[in-house]
Amino acid sequence: MSHTRKPEWLKMRPPSGERFTEIKQTLRDHDLHTVCEEASCPNMGDCWGGRNGPGTATFMLMGDRCSRGCNFCDVETGGMESLDPNEPENVARAVTEIGLEYVVLTSVDRDDLADQGAGHFAETIREIKKRDSDILVEVLIPDFQGEEHLVRKIIDAEPDVIAHNVETVDRLQWPVRDRRAGYEQSLSVLRQAAEAGDAFTKTSLMLGVGEYHHEVYQTMRDLRSVGVDIVTFGQYLQPSRTHLEVFDYVHPDVFDTWERVAEEELDFLYCASGPMVRSSYRAGELFVESILREDSITPSA
Ligand code: SF4
Repeated sequence: MSHTRKPEWLKMRPPSGERFTEIKQTLRDHDLHTVCEEASCPNMGDCWGGRNGPGTATFMLMGDRCSRGCNFCDVETGGMESLDPNEPENVARAVTEIGLEYVVLTSVDRDDLADQGAGHFAETIREIKKRDSDILVEVLIPDFQGEEHLVRKIIDAEPDVIAHNVETVDRLQWPVRDRRAGYEQSLSVLRQAAEAGDAFTKTSLMLGVGEYHHEVYQTMRDLRSVGVDIVTFGQYLQPSRTHLEVFDYVHPDVFDTWERVAEEELDFLYCASGPMVRSSYRAGELFVESILREDSITPSA
């Protein structure tokens, strides 16, 4: 377990700028949470500003407390509040007010709810599409304990991209993720979304938690075998001393290699890979740049 100083390539300047402040204010006005802020994501300035395309922001639905406790995650566990029935509409209003063309919706896990929040999630997608059907909606969903009828609720709301993070290789699911999560369960969620055929499917892995290269390669093959279109790789960063330790800081060249393997050898539609890449990093721009402009490309059902 090497726990050295953070290398140069992980140093980021804090987000700033007019657009950044504007978005922050709108979020406060509508009492909304974003993963960007909850996770103190270093890429906020980039994503919210949108370098040369639609800015991206990731809204966190169903509160900021999770029913699970993954060892890599900075979100608080337990003490979940009841759902805010106005949240779907508030999110849709904020999205159009900010002028986002690409929005990512994610959530904490709500194993405490009868439908684990699937209905609330689906309603938020519909509220956004009702206001402007041209807005691209990516959803980063929980595993809903692999319950097909709950995943179906999301599929039927017709988002453009359905993402679910496998997070790491099979061998390291525990202790990286909560024991209620699992490799096969996550693959089954992605398979169901891919087989539905309408939305692009996407997943993300953190590197630097002790994985071997052959395990990463096998995971990519498993993801392609269930029809996943898009994969991202980012460096795991320890949120606090009580969280999982960083096993190693993976060199940017290794990230570049995985990007090449993903796109040139395993035919993923695109791969975003880099130490600071997060699952929805500049998701809008990259999606538009590499898929929508090539309108011949469809989800690989
Ligand atoms: S399920 Fe795990 S990763 Fe997701 S918010 Fe809860 S603790 Fe974090």
